[in-house]
Parts: sequence; structure tokens; C-alpha cells
Amino acid sequence: MNRFNTHIIPVAFEYHEPRTIREALELLARWGEDAKILAGGTDLLVQMKMRRVEPKCLINIKGIPELDYIREGPTGVRIGAATRLRRLERSGAIKRLFPALHRAIRWMASVQVRNMATIGGNLCNASPAADTAPPLIVYGARVKLASVSGERTLPVEDFFTGPGQTAMRPGEMLTEIWIPRQPEVTGSAFIKVARTAMDLAKVNVAVALTLKGWSAFNVRIALGSVAPTPMRAREAEAALEGRPPTEDLLRRVGEIASEEIRPITDVRSTAEYRREVTKVIVADALREALGMVRVGGVA
Ligand SMILES: Cc1cc2nc3c(=O)[nH]c(=O)nc-3n(C[C@H](O)[C@H](O)[C@H](O)COP(=O)(O)OP(=O)(O)OC[C@H]3O[C@@H](n4cnc5c(N)ncnc54)[C@H](O)[C@@H]3O)c2cc1C
Repeated sequence: MNRFNTHIIPVAFEYHEPRTIREALELLARWGEDAKILAGGTDLLVQMKMRRVEPKCLINIKGIPELDYIREGPTGVRIGAATRLRRLERSGAIKRLFPALHRAIRWMASVQVRNMATIGGNLCNASPAADTAPPLIVYGARVKLASVSGERTLPVEDFFTGPGQTAMRPGEMLTEIWIPRQPEVTGSAFIKVARTAMDLAKVNVAVALTLKGWSAFNVRIALGSVAPTPMRAREAEAALEGRPPTEDLLRRVGEIASEEIRPITDVRSTAEYRREVTKVIVADALREALGMVRVGGVA
């Protein structure tokens, strides 16, 4: 395996540019596991140059107009899988309704990368550090998967099965992400800690909660880069659910989250650092989300 990015794709492959979802699915059905979907290519082409993956066929979905949209409706927002991150960053609906997702995208990579990269590619690449995953999980988003035999949807939370692994079956592709509208008086936040502005997260966290009276309800906390897949911190959520979010409790919730995660030491950070920083950023994100509700913000 090449250890370095040589800027050369060293294997031959067939290349297709379907114009409809149907055409793309038929190609996928024909080529099976020998095919790879190419969206922005910001993950896939790097992996091909390093010979980590060697597909015999590339199916470029960027020319399929029915995969590129942001549609606001009464129940939520639908996003085509091949919608570029830069378009989402500039969307008023995403900023207004889902600020944690907006923040995650705003802080990802560089403008150049965000101009190429798609939201579907970020999810399907299934990095434990994928920045759009924690916000989509706390908002209760669902993905739509299609194949020649039909469609199914599942929660983003159940989409990831391991590093680089998803619940997609052979012949399936991701076509849409649906994010439900959040209840009134919901606050949400996203925080990322990374080595540099352009880097993948050492740890990232998204939270969402609803305030009723003085107490927090529907508390959701999702973390990335601290386990084989993006994960919910369910014990931490339960510790806050239905209780007034006092300073002491927020600190305690951060501690519980840091006990729940399963971090490793790798090129970006150590397991110990990830545990320490989780305590702090979970509490900080909850404070930020509460602040948003108190000033009359939305989701
Ligand atoms: C310099 C740099 C900085 C980066 N910084 C960040 C960062 O801060 N945070 C972060 O999370 N990521 C980061 N990334 C990674 C990458 O940019 C994102 O994951 C991006 O969203 C991938 O989208 P893409 O469209 O380029 O995917 P591609 O590279 O085209 O595809 C990625 C994988 O998903 C599959 N795929 C794509 N679309 C579909 C679909 N619709 N259905 C089925 N399978 C599909 C492909 O076959 C491939 O396996 C960075 C990358 C670079 C090069």
C-alpha cells in the first residue's frame, strides 16, 4: 500500500456519469461491490490514490439533479445526498432551524473542500469523526437508502456500524437526508476540538434539548471521534432529563459522558485527552444550547 498521497490514481477503472438516480442504481446493481459511488471525491480519491480502495467502476453522482436540493417543508427539511456542504452552509433554512449542523459544516475543512464535498459523502465515508453525524443524530435525522428493488429509511444513529462501515447493503445508495423540525424552545449546539482548523476532530459533540419551565427535556448528546462510530451518550442524557440544568449538574453530565465514551489513542489524539476534553465540551455545548433557548432562539 502507498503510504503517501502520490497524486496518481494507480489503477484502471470504468467511469460512468449517470443523469438519473435510476441509471445510477442500475449501474450499482450491475457492478455490485466492484463499484463505488463518487460524489465530491474528497475522501474517495484520496483513498484510491493511497490504494486503500480499488474499485473497478466509479459512478459519479454529481451530475444527477434529483440528488441536489434543500427543501423546507412543514415537518422538516429534506436534503439531497449529493448536495454540497457549501450550499448547506449558505442555506438560511439550515442556519435558522439546525444551528448545530450549520456550525459543524461551517467549521469543516476549507471553502475549497466544502465546494466539492457532499453531505452524503460525509455520512457514507463513515469516519468516526464525521462532523455532520453528531448534529444529525441529535436532531433525529433519517437517511433514505435506495436500490433497484426499492427504498427504505433508517435513523442516522443506526446508519454507522463501524469505522468506514455503514448499514447500506450492496446495491444501495444514499439518496436523501431528512431532518425533522425541532419543538419550540429547543436549543442546540456543536463544538469541535481539532489540531488545526482544517483537521478532522479529536473530539466533536452536538447537543439538543428542550426547556419546559426550569427543566431540560428531550436531551440528546452525540459525540464523534471517541468510539468506532459516532455515538449517543445516553447515560449523560438520562442524568439531565427532566431536571433543572444547574451548573453542578452540567459538569456532572460532562463527567458521565466522558465515562461512557470508548476513545483510542491515534494520530490525532490520546484516549486520555479525549476523555478530559469530553467533560469540558459536553458541559460547554449544553450551556450554549441553554443560552440559545433563553434568548428565544430556535432549534
Ligand atoms: C483537506 C480535507 C479536510 C477535511 N476536513 C474534514 C473535516 O473537518 N470534517 C469532516 O467530517 N471531514 C473532513 N474531510 C473529509 C471529507 O471532505 C468529507 O467527509 C466529505 O463530506 C466527503 O464528501 P464527498 O462528497 O467528497 O465524498 P466522496 O469522497 O465522494 O465519497 C466518500 C465515500 O462515500 C461514498 N458515497 C458518497 N456518496 C454516496 C451516496 N450518495 N451513496 C452511497 N455512497 C456514497 C463513496 O463511495 C465513498 O466511499 C476533509 C477532507 C479533506 C481532503
